[in-house]
Amino acid sequence: MDRLDVAKGVPVGTNYGGLLEELVGLSRSLGDPGRDLVILGEGNTSVRLDDESFLVKASGTSLANAKKEGFVRMDFGRTLALLDLEDPSDDELGGALMAARGEGGGDLRPSIEAVMHALCLTEGEATFVGHTHPTSVNAVLCSDRAEMLSAGVIFPDQVVVLGRHLLHVPYADVGLPLARALRDGLREHGGRVGAPPKTVYLQNHGLVALGPSAGGVERVTAMADKHARIMAGVLAAGEPVFLTAEQADGLDARPDEEYRRRVLGGGR
Ligand SMILES: [Zn+2]
Repeated sequence: MDRLDVAKGVPVGTNYGGLLEELVGLSRSLGDPGRDLVILGEGNTSVRLDDESFLVKASGTSLANAKKEGFVRMDFGRTLALLDLEDPSDDELGGALMAARGEGGGDLRPSIEAVMHALCLTEGEATFVGHTHPTSVNAVLCSDRAEMLSAGVIFPDQVVVLGRHLLHVPYADVGLPLARALRDGLREHGGRVGAPPKTVYLQNHGLVALGPSAGGVERVTAMADKHARIMAGVLAAGEPVFLTAEQADGLDARPDEEYRRRVLGGGR
């Protein structure tokens, strides 16, 4: 067992088969100031390690300066059990979050959005998750046209990378209310579509990208950023012209799209 550095997150020298290194790389990329996806301590990332545990960004750290010691190992069961707490005080919630750390979790406080990540990594079937507050996406999500982002397909690569069906989650306070709203959304989406979404929009808040790999999260985030910029332009120019359901379903199933999906890596 590696030495546990008490002042840090996960044990020094632990890399979880390369997953931690990939998570650090993804975090730094999403935190790149030039991309305008997050500033300061905004946003967080996670990776599923096994059936019992995941790593999530520690509270108070920035994506741009992410390093291996800035992540906390969490236990899925104990983290998801937070959803059952009724009206916890801030102290109770903080204590429960710390108690949900997994073996070798370190001393850092996990992000309050850890519960949301746990849901994406279980019910959402993702291996990597990237949550950001892109200026482009929030320009639409903070408007009364927010649901235009998930209302339909406006260009073919949207389907290839973001998925055929995108999930919109109504506004809820950060923490347990937001996690519960996301859980409701994932379940409704699963029941309706039969598969989890790759792209989740949180009203008046931001974007969640779910992927089978760090690259998948990277590509969903990049395409969601572009898609939102196009939608903002569309809404300034007129009304969106959505592809018909038949056209969109066709794009979702076409063999050449299957190929492009693999190349673009947006598949799951
Ligand atoms: Zn957030």
